Amino acid sequence: MTKVTTTAVEQMIIQPPSRFYEDSSLPKPNISSLDEYKAMYEQSIKNPNKFWGDMAREVIDWDRDFSTVLQGSLQAADFAWFADGMLSPCYNVLDRHAIARPDATAIIYEADEPNQGRHITYRQLLADVCQCAGALASLGVGKGDRVAIYMPMIPAVVVAMLATIRLGAVHTVVFAGFSAESLADRVNDAGCKVVITSDVSYRGSKVIPLKNIVDKAVPNCPSVTNVLVFQRSAAPTASMVDGRDIWWQDIVPKFPRYIPNVSVSAEHPLFLLYTSGSTGKPKGVVHTTAGYLLGAHATCKYVFDLHPTDRMGCAGDVGWITGHTYIVYGPLMMGAATLVFESTPAYPDFTRYWSTVERHKLTQWYVAPTAIRLLQRAGESFVKHDTSSLRVLGSVGEPIAPENFMWYHDVVGKKSCAVADTYWQTETGSHIVAPISTVTPTKPGSATLPFFGIDLAIVDPLTGKELEGNDVEGVLAVKQPWPSAARTVWRGHDRYIDTYLKPYPGFYFTGDGAARDSDGYIWIRGRVDDVVNISGHRLSTSEIEAALMTHAAVAEAAVVGVPDELTGQAVNAFILLKDGFEVNAELEKELILTVRTQIGPFASPKKLIFSDLPKTRSGKIMRRILRKVLAGEEDQLGDVSTLADPKVVHDIIHAVHRAH
Ligand code: ATP
Ligand code: MG
Repeated sequence: MTKVTTTAVEQMIIQPPSRFYEDSSLPKPNISSLDEYKAMYEQSIKNPNKFWGDMAREVIDWDRDFSTVLQGSLQAADFAWFADGMLSPCYNVLDRHAIARPDATAIIYEADEPNQGRHITYRQLLADVCQCAGALASLGVGKGDRVAIYMPMIPAVVVAMLATIRLGAVHTVVFAGFSAESLADRVNDAGCKVVITSDVSYRGSKVIPLKNIVDKAVPNCPSVTNVLVFQRSAAPTASMVDGRDIWWQDIVPKFPRYIPNVSVSAEHPLFLLYTSGSTGKPKGVVHTTAGYLLGAHATCKYVFDLHPTDRMGCAGDVGWITGHTYIVYGPLMMGAATLVFESTPAYPDFTRYWSTVERHKLTQWYVAPTAIRLLQRAGESFVKHDTSSLRVLGSVGEPIAPENFMWYHDVVGKKSCAVADTYWQTETGSHIVAPISTVTPTKPGSATLPFFGIDLAIVDPLTGKELEGNDVEGVLAVKQPWPSAARTVWRGHDRYIDTYLKPYPGFYFTGDGAARDSDGYIWIRGRVDDVVNISGHRLSTSEIEAALMTHAAVAEAAVVGVPDELTGQAVNAFILLKDGFEVNAELEKELILTVRTQIGPFASPKKLIFSDLPKTRSGKIMRRILRKVLAGEEDQLGDVSTLADPKVVHDIIHAVHRAH
């Protein structure tokens, strides 16, 4: 293995802001020294049963106490946390706060049009959730049933999620940018009874007819009996199917403002969430109740130093795991207020994030590097609002380049906020490598140190052996189960084992490469398999290829992500046409439309390149060659001797030049 080389920027160290300790108007840090973190970390690894057992009793209200903490193992893929404990997840995120602090704000709704939002208290949210749960129950939803949620970022999406779990049912939120086909795939895999949607969604003043998309999907979903439609527009615009579709506003208000919680066991599934899935077929990652809620609570409290009096601002979408953990479950577990942001960073202009922070006095801000790049490019002049309420700025989803980290720190944070680069995955449920904002010195570009309970390993990809000590580079893995780890893939436990546990026996394999530097800091090097990340939307290249291949003219397709200043990555698609088909503008349009309708507009190829593909003798496409040619590094192709036809490289180079 190569040794880690550190550049000047990698050696730069930023200390947590001293005002966290000096300014008495700020809440007292949840952790106040690096030694305290180290001691807690050591205890969490050496004695996970005591560490997590104590914490679970402290922060979760149990209906029945547990007698075991961790049971089973990673190796056997059968681990369980607090297995015989019983709890009501909705009680923990809602009722207990509605009882203790009914008038505290739960949801800060920032609508697409500034100033059209509102604050919702815990008391109000509890009433809304109970009424929605009553309506769902009347549609036959009960414990263990699956409910699909395909909605914009409005308070009703949170109401729908919490109403589902109040009944012991399981939600699967599908990002509302996905096409009808992608929605149907997910609804069918999960076997959902009900789909909850809205007539339209608004983003940056654009209107998207969500209900129409659902109408295209649901006829192909035999398990769906009802569609519950929230009226988001001023005048209802959707056409309703008799006997199947019901307006939310017609049915929900008829139910009582309080119904009891359904108590579930700690390992009852809380939700499914589909990842892009590297083989093309989406994977329904299963998170269970107590362990997930504990991970969400602990990372909010320590990584973001969230307090019950804080106002968490995550501008993500509940269609992804970030929204589940850091918009909904983490902040609400803590009884804090949480932002539901319907708009975009650019609407009505590039000041939107900062005017939102100022308006609601948000204390944490959490977005993906793609948004930070966009705003940095737009210019400093847009960062003119009073953002002094902020203490912690978070980044998630892809590596944040040091120059973007520093802009976030200096320009947005005015050098007095902690910047937390948080590394985690849908499958990990909550952060696994991230700073404790109040105490961990950060290095721009590094996600810093493992979170409590994460027994991290850098593994040699060739031997599968752990590389001990510092100054090592390999693949990132975890040695022990942690509470918020995904337990299985929905109807695919073998797939779970094959994807995460088999590649490196004895470890949970993240799929990402990483280095540990001489200070023990973790540097994520990107993924080992093939995925593109467009404005924070992660998609497997094979999913886009599969869509292109459905077009009659396409013989073969290979998709690669190329760096894009604005969106992080953009899709470039290499296409080999079938005999008898010719390249023309019409065909190009059709191909792009194919991707848009089958996956979603965000997956559209930015460039189509028509050429033969570099295939190995065993038929695998050598994407490395496509990437090198696109990067203009034709002279660094490396070994091409395994190609079935090495001459094809020249065709590709010519085709790329033509396409430029
Ligand atoms: P699939 O597993 O289907 O391919 P996905 O991995 O793209 O989906 P997520 O679970 O949302 O979907 O993304 C997790 C991945 O995002 C990580 O494995 C890593 O590659 C990347 N990632 C997340 N946070 C960071 C970060 N702070 N730094 C670097 N990479 C990150
Ligand atoms: Mg992944």
